[in-house]
Amino acid sequence: MLGQMMDIPLSISTLIVHADRYHGDTEIVSRMVEGPSADNGRDIVKGIHRYTYRDAHRRARKLANVIRANGVEFGDRVATLAWNGYRHFELYYGISGIGAVMHTVNPRLHPEQVAWIVNHAEDKLMFFDLTFAPVVEKIAALCPTVKAWIAMCDRKHMPSIKVDNLLCYEDVLESASDSFDWPVFDERSAACLCYTSGTTGNPKGVLYSHRSTLLHAMASIQPDVFGMSGRETVLPIVPMFHVNAWGIAYSAPMVGAKLVFPGPGLDGASVCELFEQEQVTLSAGVPTVWLGVLQYLQQSGKKPTSLKRMVCGGSAVPPALMRSYEQDYGIKIHQAWGMTEMSPLGTYGSLKKKHDALSPEEQFAIEVKQGRAIYGVDLKIVDGEGNELPRDGKVSGDLLVRGQWIIDSYFRLEKSPLVDGWFPTGDVGTLDPDGYLQITDRSKDVIKSGGEWISSIDLENLAMSHPAVAMAAVIGVYHPKWDERPLLVVVKKPGTELTAAELIKFYDGKIAKWWTPDDVQFIDALPLGATGKVQKNKLREHYKDYKLPGA
Ligand code: ADP
Repeated sequence: MLGQMMDIPLSISTLIVHADRYHGDTEIVSRMVEGPSADNGRDIVKGIHRYTYRDAHRRARKLANVIRANGVEFGDRVATLAWNGYRHFELYYGISGIGAVMHTVNPRLHPEQVAWIVNHAEDKLMFFDLTFAPVVEKIAALCPTVKAWIAMCDRKHMPSIKVDNLLCYEDVLESASDSFDWPVFDERSAACLCYTSGTTGNPKGVLYSHRSTLLHAMASIQPDVFGMSGRETVLPIVPMFHVNAWGIAYSAPMVGAKLVFPGPGLDGASVCELFEQEQVTLSAGVPTVWLGVLQYLQQSGKKPTSLKRMVCGGSAVPPALMRSYEQDYGIKIHQAWGMTEMSPLGTYGSLKKKHDALSPEEQFAIEVKQGRAIYGVDLKIVDGEGNELPRDGKVSGDLLVRGQWIIDSYFRLEKSPLVDGWFPTGDVGTLDPDGYLQITDRSKDVIKSGGEWISSIDLENLAMSHPAVAMAAVIGVYHPKWDERPLLVVVKKPGTELTAAELIKFYDGKIAKWWTPDDVQFIDALPLGATGKVQKNKLREHYKDYKLPGA
């Protein structure tokens, strides 16, 4: 017997309809890509665009008409190369709302990779921010499936690039009708497509459904997760071109939170200016972004007045970073763990009631973990033979996940990545009985010394707690006796003095002696990938013939 309740599909268009109807006057504020010269009428103050959910919905309906008029049908892919901004937000709803697939392309990739991805997805249209006009000019001829290239600006700012079928976003919207009824279709239909960064081999497409996207957004707003409400002002620094800004472009309209989009201004000064001007209460980004913001705050002596907490994930969050924000600025960093294949949320760092009894230091020891399982994602760790390992917080193993917003198969790849219905994350870590996850490494970054594993994340976190260290990465390099030994690669804070011997001594008493890195290399900058993560494969390549002292 079936239940007798309404069967209304979970669809992305319902979010913008809800936000319009019940939070219609809530603002969406964006730093414009065009800069201070932008002039769109009453809403522009020095390159800041300001409108409401109601306005966004009206323009998303116009966009839906435009996209359909350009020959896009149900299931077709429409690409974006764009920063976090109001036009990108409109595209999120205009594209998915008609049942087409919004394909957010990472503009930080090499143009050749962008072209590869666009061709693999067979995108029909490409919407791009002005910053990426040179990329479009490079790839247009290589992407035959794209029927039109739409510059996200007004007539006055159109780029002078040689591209066939170049359209102007504001022009096409201007002439379109704002009357559009969002179609109703199967909630399992594809809604958005995001390619993994593909550090090995070609990027792989993760195809989210309307259902998975909505369930993920609902889970993310819970009190023990982002804790997002209609009283919040949220600034997602995490890009809308990477895993849908961790779902914030969906969760904010769900609760009616005010949204602030930073556009291309991701440096400390620009971000902090928006924090203050818009009185932001919640923000989200990867550790490298928060390191940059911290440096700016320290140098400028400024203090955010409204920001109370931020979500940080994408790579391990250095405990020293969490401490600095909390002690010096009263801002709590919550660590989240997940991946593109997981929409991305898997675990979130929040304490339980029983932890009230712990000392601040004991609580901190829990908060620096990757977080605990949220309903909707199940986790387990296994050994090399696939046998499940105990959830004792001690034994580490390969981490597998399953859930309603976890990948089942990659776009246009036949072979399923699943193992007995579970997705292998490629991460190695421990799980404790409360579901707290501690990642020790990505399996490919683990350092195997004399048959034992050394956690590069632990060594990096310790190095980062040294006052003279700005950034640190640890890789395994060849050692004739131990197979591999850790090499610490460090970027010093400007104007500080530090020697390799001092740094190695700094580890004394903090870890097992045999974990101590064999050597230290100081460099000017670590290689960062398109999503702001340290590219350890590049470091390993660079140091592949490195001769450790005594080796
Ligand atoms: P890609 O795999 O394309 O680089 P993802 O954003 O999907 O990009 O990366 C997911 C991976 O990032 C995870 O498998 C994990 O290794 C790492 N990661 C994400 N969040 C954390 C975190 N809080 N701590 C440690 N590692 C993390």
